[in-house]
Amino acid sequence: MTVFRAAWILPITAPPIRDGWLAVEDGVIGAVGSGRRVDAADLGPVAVLPALVNAHTHLELSYLEGVVQPVDRFLDWIRAVVAARRRYCDPRDPAILEAARAAIGAARTSGTGLMGDVSNTLAAVPLLREAGMAARVFHELLGFNTDDPVGRVRAARAAIDLEREPGAAVRLSLAPHAPYSVSPGLCAAIRADLDAHPEDVSTIHLAESPEEVEFIARGTGGWRELLGELDVWSPAWRPAGVSPTLYLSALGFLDARVLAVHVVQCTADDLARLRAAGTNVVSCPRSNRYVGVGDPPLDAFYRAGIPVAFGTDSLASAPDVNLFAELAAARRLAPRVAAGRLLESATLRGATALGFGGQFGSIDVGKRASLIAVRVPAGVVDVEEYLLSGIEPADIGWLGASTPNFQ
Ligand SMILES: [Zn+2]
Repeated sequence: MTVFRAAWILPITAPPIRDGWLAVEDGVIGAVGSGRRVDAADLGPVAVLPALVNAHTHLELSYLEGVVQPVDRFLDWIRAVVAARRRYCDPRDPAILEAARAAIGAARTSGTGLMGDVSNTLAAVPLLREAGMAARVFHELLGFNTDDPVGRVRAARAAIDLEREPGAAVRLSLAPHAPYSVSPGLCAAIRADLDAHPEDVSTIHLAESPEEVEFIARGTGGWRELLGELDVWSPAWRPAGVSPTLYLSALGFLDARVLAVHVVQCTADDLARLRAAGTNVVSCPRSNRYVGVGDPPLDAFYRAGIPVAFGTDSLASAPDVNLFAELAAARRLAPRVAAGRLLESATLRGATALGFGGQFGSIDVGKRASLIAVRVPAGVVDVEEYLLSGIEPADIGWLGASTPNFQ
């Protein structure tokens, strides 16, 4: 057993402990307390907290870093990504794998211990395993005019079953891309698969752009044009006459086992519906700015009682995969939300939403000791607020067998 003492311990499920200690045995948290312990390895002026959870990434798009520029209109960004992936998209390409591997490494050095990764190719699965990064990989399906949605889902399930390892730190499930790119039939087939696999969770991009709102309500606008351009339009589709959130809710897709990503465009009715369904919202505020869709109503999410997690999104729409930087952006958008709630979102809420709440996300006895130590300057009084100020990898270490290994 190893006992660590630190200036602060942040259990997340309890207020920060000043001059706290924790005991780790066989990689599991054995005890947590305050006060002096003579057997403790003193970590000094650091805050020990659970590793952060980056609940929304696309590791296989990491190679697009710097290729797709920030835009004012979402569809310009989509067109740029589609064009780049058409030019260059073999998932076995060493450059794509190398960029994904580097992104996993960068996530780890910035304090992330669990990721929710959206993948069309499953190329990142072996890379996550190799790096010892716990993850939920969502095998994402697109198909607005799919002939055989049940067959598509059966094939995708077979693909993830090939990768599945019982009890593994990398877990796989299926996910639809977005309401405007997945037909109602395909969405229903994915939901049926989720219902048949009670250990799984799913995710979907939801209510990201104003164009999505227009398309789902009235069937017009930029999305209608783009679906035609891409030759995937379905004449069977009828506009829903409601918001994307109410549309997905009516399809029966939303519940507590779903992570709705973005939710930038939403009404009070939408928030009430998400709250009633227990749906998790994953907010990626830096990505939202990058792709020109505006700012998420973070304060309203918390006031509505919706479980919020955070993600950086891919390097095609974010400058890095440092979740502490995402937290700093969230803090600027939601100055009135208690610091402890934002930290809970970046840890326990993300872990729970991804189906890892029993092992990750808080410093509680029996959970995995996936813990980081953040160097705290002298004079800091509010350690939770300090952790929202934009922590850089140089000030983050991982708790190993004895002392944290700062970069
Ligand atoms: Zn995404």
